[in-house]
Amino acid sequence: MNYSPRRLDALRQALEQKKADGIIVSNPHNVRYLSGYTGDDSALLITRDGGYFYTDFRYTEQAAKEIRGLKLVQRKKSLFNAIAKTVAKRRMKKVLFESASVTFQQYQELTQAVPRSRLVPNWGAVANIRMVKDEGEIRAIQAAARVAETGFRRFRGMVKTGLDERVMANGLDFRMRALGAECPAFEIIVAVRERASQPHARPTRRILRKGEPVLVDWGARKDFYNSDLTRVLFTDRIPRTIRRVYEIVREAQRLAIAAVGPEVPAKQVDRAARQYIRKHGFGKQFGHGVGHGVGLEVHELPTINASSRHILKPGMVFTVEPGIYLPGVGGVRIEDMVLVTPNGCEVLTALPKAIDEMVVPV
Ligand code: ZN
Ligand code: ZN
Repeated sequence: MNYSPRRLDALRQALEQKKADGIIVSNPHNVRYLSGYTGDDSALLITRDGGYFYTDFRYTEQAAKEIRGLKLVQRKKSLFNAIAKTVAKRRMKKVLFESASVTFQQYQELTQAVPRSRLVPNWGAVANIRMVKDEGEIRAIQAAARVAETGFRRFRGMVKTGLDERVMANGLDFRMRALGAECPAFEIIVAVRERASQPHARPTRRILRKGEPVLVDWGARKDFYNSDLTRVLFTDRIPRTIRRVYEIVREAQRLAIAAVGPEVPAKQVDRAARQYIRKHGFGKQFGHGVGHGVGLEVHELPTINASSRHILKPGMVFTVEPGIYLPGVGGVRIEDMVLVTPNGCEVLTALPKAIDEMVVPV
């Protein structure tokens, strides 16, 4: 797990801005990101001048080896009980907690244990830091992308008529694991013909027949970092409607990627794809944002949609994935990952996408 002490410095700056004495970090991805710890069932309390790492007996040995710059505390009761003890002992007045990662029960436990401290819900203090990747993270994401791509190249060789969606999804999963993926980044989508009109179709027993397109949305997780891509394959021939839609989506994606650069508002990237798709009469059939950040989670900041307030910065990594969905007919989405650089952007994924290259022999 890659780690950098600069992440803690950045979080402490956020604490200073918010005039808080500390933040309780219980989102497991954030715990990993800030501490370098790769296990489970742990939480952090980061203060202005230090930090504590809480876990239980099962993980103490592992944590002692992995964490850096934090004081290790082995809890006796619950995690939040242990955190509350530190908050009380240090007489912390204002403490932030991650509102999306604390249960109501934990919140009650905490408020009862530290009646003198002000507990303030927070969302985004760590997510905002995670939005810009450092070099180690970019290398990890690139490695996750390579595994997904090589896995897909090998998977292409197995795609043939008579196989169902689940068998194909398992085949891709197997190939990525054989290449070193810990697991797929999310449940692989393999959607034959009309099923591709549902952007998040789960693989079924639907069988692929000759002449039908198949949409595959997949990614790999490697060293805790993720990748996310989508391609559409064709068996034998390309249906005329889908060919037209495919070319529109592909040009929309090209325009969106061309819009990516430092200091560009993220919504402009969405607009570049959306305007083009709208101009061709399919605006209503493109019902999702054009992309999302990818890192320790498959969906994280920045948000790349029409209402995003994010401004792109070098080091941000996100997907560009316009799509057109025609209920009863099918759908096309093309998804690649990009990295914002000081001069523009670098496309991190390089699988072919010209339509005639997407035909597999059957
Ligand atoms: Zn995807
Ligand atoms: Zn995606």
